[in-house]
Amino acid sequence: MTAPVVEVRNLHKTYGSKVAVDDVSFVVERGEIFGVLGPNGAGKTTTVECVAGLRQADGGHITVLGVDPQTQPEAVREQIGIQFQEMQLHDKITVREALTMFAAFHANPANIENLITMLGLGEKADARFKTLSGGQKQRVSIALALIGKPTVAILDEMTTGLDPQARRDVWDAIRAVRDAGTTVLLVTHFMEEAERLCDRLVLIDGGRIIAEGSPTDLIAATPDATSLEDVFVSLTSAQAAKHVFA
Ligand code: ATP
Repeated sequence: MTAPVVEVRNLHKTYGSKVAVDDVSFVVERGEIFGVLGPNGAGKTTTVECVAGLRQADGGHITVLGVDPQTQPEAVREQIGIQFQEMQLHDKITVREALTMFAAFHANPANIENLITMLGLGEKADARFKTLSGGQKQRVSIALALIGKPTVAILDEMTTGLDPQARRDVWDAIRAVRDAGTTVLLVTHFMEEAERLCDRLVLIDGGRIIAEGSPTDLIAATPDATSLEDVFVSLTSAQAAKHVFA
């Protein structure tokens, strides 16, 4: 049996008196798109920042391919590609130039032409960054996250602000990344996005996991649910009712 790509056990993180992540545990297996899904402020970004070794946890244990990102962040970062939220490149740089520049930071970078093809950027390879649409810019940011041939790509809120077609194009790109063998840890607050893309997910609310499983299993396990949105509403309204009537 191969070790999980990411293992998070009883993660806890507070900011002052604010509990941002409360006893979160999950395992990401190799080759899947694993979702960290939840509303704004649920604790998703804090969780994946701890996984990436960018933030110090207050409690719990994390491993990425067996290495602890809290004590060995440099070793873990070699295995992780992170897409930069609201990434900005120089207006005049072209897609191919940007990838070539970032490739130079790695001893054994990915093949640039393969990345361009996989992310559907062939026609835009020589276009300047400022001329790209929002969806194309996001696909460039995914390509940059993959330039170091990471085992796992962390993609945080990829499709916020995109129109439906651009969103679907980014979804196709993320599936292509998974199909090419990279494990994807996907952070999103879009229930539909998680439903369509994720092989498995944790649903987080108020820093706690309220459900875990594949979208299909979660929907099937919830009476009258036809979507993850229904699952979320069912779970959170049940909790609210418990709170009110307790
Ligand atoms: P969003 O999608 O809005 O970023 P999220 O699910 O990623 O939400 P986090 O960004 O992890 O959630 O934030 C979880 C909670 O911790 C929120 O209440 C947020 O306001 C708070 N928080 C996040 N970062 C800090 C910080 N540096 N200092 C204080 N509070 C913070």
